[in-house]
Amino acid sequence: MKLYNTLTKKVEEFIPYNKDMVTMYTCGPTVYYYAHIGNLRTYISEDVLEKGLRYLGYNVKRCMNITDVGHLTGDSDTGEDKLMTAAKKEHKSVLDIAKFYTEAFFKDLDRLNIKKPEIVSPATENISFYINMISKLLDKGYAYESGGNIYFDTSKYSNYYELSGRSKDDLMLAVRDDVDVDNNKKNPFDFGLWFTNSKFKDQELKWDSPFGYGYPGWHIECSAIAIQNLGEHLDIHCGGVDNIFPHHTNEIAQSECYLGHKWCNYWVHMEFLNDKSGKMSKSKGDSKDLNSLIEKGYDPIVYRYFCLQSHYRKVLVYSLESLDMATNAYNKLKGRVKNIKDNLDGEIDYDKALEYQDKFKEAFSNDMNTSLMLTTLYDVIKSDLNNSTKFYLIKDFDSVLSLSLLEDEKISKELEDYVLSKIEERNQAKKEKNYELADSIREELLSKNIVIKDTREGTTFEVRK
Ligand code: AMP
Ligand code: ZN
Repeated sequence: MKLYNTLTKKVEEFIPYNKDMVTMYTCGPTVYYYAHIGNLRTYISEDVLEKGLRYLGYNVKRCMNITDVGHLTGDSDTGEDKLMTAAKKEHKSVLDIAKFYTEAFFKDLDRLNIKKPEIVSPATENISFYINMISKLLDKGYAYESGGNIYFDTSKYSNYYELSGRSKDDLMLAVRDDVDVDNNKKNPFDFGLWFTNSKFKDQELKWDSPFGYGYPGWHIECSAIAIQNLGEHLDIHCGGVDNIFPHHTNEIAQSECYLGHKWCNYWVHMEFLNDKSGKMSKSKGDSKDLNSLIEKGYDPIVYRYFCLQSHYRKVLVYSLESLDMATNAYNKLKGRVKNIKDNLDGEIDYDKALEYQDKFKEAFSNDMNTSLMLTTLYDVIKSDLNNSTKFYLIKDFDSVLSLSLLEDEKISKELEDYVLSKIEERNQAKKEKNYELADSIREELLSKNIVIKDTREGTTFEVRK
C-alpha cells in the first residue's frame, strides 16, 4: 500500500506500527450545522481508505471525535465558539444544537453508505484527558499561563513547521487575516489549550480544572481523544487539507511534547470540493448539504459515485450538471449489474477472479486511486467472464466502493416524495394549460432517469435503467 504522506510530501510505502492493527484517526464534524457536501467528500474518502485497508487484509481500529465545544469561528482562537453562535441563533442550548446536528451527521453517513467509525467520541466527554495532557505540558515547560488562559508555546517545539512545509514568515503572510492578535500570546502561532478568560464571556459549557473554571481549545481534543483511544503510536491521521494548518500542526506539537516521542507516521489529507464560485464552507451559510441534493431529486449514492470518480488529492468541482452526468452513468452501471444478476450462469472461476481482485487491490494501493478502482469494476463487467464470476467480483469490490450495486432498484422515501410533488406540480400546470412548464418538469425528471407515464388511472413513474 502506497499513500501520500503530507509530513514527508512523498508517496510512501505504508508500514503500520503494529502489523496486526492499523490505527486510524479522523477529525470529526463541528456539529453547529449540517455537514456540507464538501465535508462529506472528506468522509467518503476516509471511508474508502478504511474499507480498502480491510480489503488488503489489515485490521483497522478507527476513532473519530465530534467537536461539540471549543471550535472558535476563527481556527486560531479568534471569535466566538461556533456552537454558541448557532445556539443563540436557533434559541436552543448548545447541547441541543450538538445533539441535533450529530444525529443529522450520522443520518448523512448512513445515506452515503459510510461506515460509522468503531469509536466515536464527543469532545465534551473527555475533559479529564485534556486536563491531564495540559497539566503535563505545563509541568514540562511546553505551555504557559497568560491572562487567565493556558497556551502552548510553539517556540519550544522545533518541528513546528514540518507538516505545513512552510517557513514561519511564509505562514504569517498566508494566514495574516486569520491570526488573532492576542496580547496574551508570546508568539503569534501559540494556541489556546484552556480558556478561563476568553474575549467572549458567555461560553455556555465550562468545567472545573486546576487552571480555573473554563473550557478546552479545539486542537487539544483531537490529540487527547486519539491518544486515549488509539494509544501512543498512531498510524494514520486524516482530515481535509484546511486542517493541515493550524489544527494538525498544533496536534502534532502538543502530542509529541506530551508523549516525548514521534506520534503519527502518516498524515493523509483530502482535497476540497469546491463549487464554481470557489471554496464551500459551512460558515458562509450558503453551503450545500445532502438534504438539499435529495430535495432536488438526487440519490445520495450518486454523490458518492461522483466523488469516487476523482482522486482524493485533486480539487473536485461540483455542479448540478456534473451530478446529472454521474446520475446517468450510475444508473447505467446499476442496469448492467442487474442484467448480470438476473442471468447468473455456471461456476465461479476463482482463478480468473483473482486476477481482477489483484488489479483492484493495486488500484487502491496506488495512493487510493478510486477512479482506477471503478475502471477495474467496468473491466469486469465488459470482460468475457461468466456472469456468476462477474457477480462475485462486483459484490467483492462493492465491499469497498459501497455503491449499493447489488441492491434492487428501490427509490428512497425522499426521492419518492420529490417525484410525487413534481408530478402534482405538472398536473397543475397542465390544468392551467401551461404546457411549457409541464414539459419542463417531465424533462427535468427524465434527466434524473425518472420516466413519468400518463395513464387513465393517473400519472405513474418508473426509474429508467
Ligand atoms: P468541520 O465540520 O468544519 O470541522 O469539517 C469537517 C471535515 O471536513 C474536516 O476534515 C475538514 O477538513 C473537511 N472539509 C471542510 N471543508 C471542506 C470542503 N470544501 N471539501 C472537502 N472537505 C472539507
Ligand atoms: Zn481534529
